[in-house]
Amino acid sequence: MCEECYSNENKITPLLNPLDCLENHTQYICGTCGRCICIEHDPNRGLQRWNFPFKSLEIAKLYLRTADYTTKSACGIYEIENNKGRLSYKIFPGNDELNLFLKKNKDKKCRQMMPVFSAGKYKEYPHTEVRKLTPDEIKQYMSER
Ligand SMILES: [Zn+2]
Ligand SMILES: [Zn+2]
Repeated sequence: MCEECYSNENKITPLLNPLDCLENHTQYICGTCGRCICIEHDPNRGLQRWNFPFKSLEIAKLYLRTADYTTKSACGIYEIENNKGRLSYKIFPGNDELNLFLKKNKDKKCRQMMPVFSAGKYKEYPHTEVRKLTPDEIKQYMSER
């Protein structure tokens, strides 16, 4: 697993509409393995991909680094269960944010009340870049997928 971005597949993201994401969205470019992770704030609500629920822990892990980097802290992935027993995974900076979310979403609960995954400690890496890719870089990245 890449110690910077927590994935062992360095071209797995973007998962959906990769070309559109690489062409139009700011990317976190992992300084260690080169993986691009969408870190774009949506223009309407200012939210990033990591603010939304993920259907598996593995997918949430692919975006955790953008949360860590944005908040400059080691965020956690929490397992959330809805009132039908369905699980999803959400990233929060800490238990305060989790509690706020649970207060606003009475139909959801978190059994463990602690992260199922977190880097534990926030760390910066020397070669990280956060920017849009150039057309040549996009071509290169897509050809290596
Ligand atoms: Zn994107
Ligand atoms: Zn990496």
